[in-house]
Amino acid sequence: MIDDQDLKEKDLKDLNDICDECHKEDESVSQNLILTGFKICKSCRISKTIFPI
Ligand SMILES: [Zn+2]
Repeated sequence: MIDDQDLKEKDLKDLNDICDECHKEDESVSQNLILTGFKICKSCRISKTIFPI
């Protein structure tokens, strides 16, 4: 069994999970980057959805 947890954590660090909006580090940043193309965290994505300016 291969433990890919370490690889995943390294990948996340390489992607640099810093939100472009609030400059906080969050694991949801890289997920949103893949899903939406925006380098933003979960909470910024919600506020952008509510206030799409
Ligand atoms: Zn943010």
